[in-house]
Amino acid sequence: MTVTFKQTALAAIAAAVLAAPAFAAAPMVKTPAPGYFRMMLGDFEITAINDGTVDLPVDKLLQGVKPGAVDTALAKSFLKTPLETSVNGFLINTGNKLILVDTGAAGLFGPTLGKFAANLKAAGYAPEQVDEIYVTHMHADHVGGLVANGERLFPNAIVRAQKQEADYWLSQANKDKNPGKADGFKGAMASLNPYVTAGKFKPFEGDVELVPGISSHSGKGHTPGHATYVVESKGQKLVLIGDLIHVGAVQFDHPEVTVAFDSDPKGAAAERKQAFDAAARGRYLVGAAHLQFPGIGHIEKEGKGYEFIPVNYTQMR
Ligand SMILES: [Zn+2]
Repeated sequence: MTVTFKQTALAAIAAAVLAAPAFAAAPMVKTPAPGYFRMMLGDFEITAINDGTVDLPVDKLLQGVKPGAVDTALAKSFLKTPLETSVNGFLINTGNKLILVDTGAAGLFGPTLGKFAANLKAAGYAPEQVDEIYVTHMHADHVGGLVANGERLFPNAIVRAQKQEADYWLSQANKDKNPGKADGFKGAMASLNPYVTAGKFKPFEGDVELVPGISSHSGKGHTPGHATYVVESKGQKLVLIGDLIHVGAVQFDHPEVTVAFDSDPKGAAAERKQAFDAAARGRYLVGAAHLQFPGIGHIEKEGKGYEFIPVNYTQMR
C-alpha cells in the first residue's frame, strides 16, 4: 500500500516537472556588482573602491539653502531625499608602491556600508599588499575600514594623515570637551590607535610629497586637518578631494551650500570653490568620496557654479 502511494506520488512529481515550462523564472541574485572601477593615469593604475551606500536625509543636512530648494535640485537629477550616497576610497598602484586613500566605514556607519575589504579583494588586491594609506580625514566613513575586529586590517601599511587632524581626533582631552561628538572621537581612536601603537602611523604637516607622484594638500574646513591628495603621472593629474563635496546634485550648482558634518562651514565652502576652480582651470580629474561611484570626473565652470562630467568608462589594453 505504502509503496503504491510512493510510486503514485513520484509519478505525479515527474509529470509536474515535465509539464513545467522551460522558461521558468530564474531566482534573482540580489547581490550588488563588485564595487570597483579601474583606469590608468599615466603610468599609475587607479582603482576606485566602493564601501557601499548610505541613505542620507540631505534636505536636513545641507545648510545655507532655502527650504524646498534641495528637493527641487535633487528632482532635477531624478533623485530624492533620503539620498542614497556612495562611500568611495581610491587605490593607486604606482608600479613601486600600492597606496590607498581612505578605507570606508567597516561596521561604524550601519549595515549598508562595510563592503570595502570585499571589494578590494574583488579588485584583485589583498590588504597585506598595501604599502601606505593616506587618510583625507578621520570621520568614521573614511577610517573605519582600517581595522577589523580591533586589529589592523593592513598589517604592512604605514598610515599617514595631516598632523592637525590626528591631534584633534586622537586627543582624549578633545573627546571630553565635545561630548556631542563622542562617537566620532571613539571611531577615530578605535581605527587609528592600533597603527599608532604598532609604530605604523606617521602624520605629516602641510603640503608634502609622500611618494614620487603623490603629494598632500591641506584642505581644512570639513574637519580641522582635512587633506586632499594630488596624484600625477606622465602629465596626467587626479586630485582626491575627500569630503570637499557631499551632494553633487546640489553643491556643484551651489558650492556655497555646506553640510552639517563641516566643522568650519565657511572654510569648507572656500576650500570647495578653490578646489573646483583649480580643477576647471587645470582640466584635470578629481575623485570624491561621496560623489556617486566611482566618484571620478572633470569639473567645468558653469555660470556661478560648476558642472561635473563623470569619467568615461574604460578598460585596460
Ligand atoms: Zn565622508
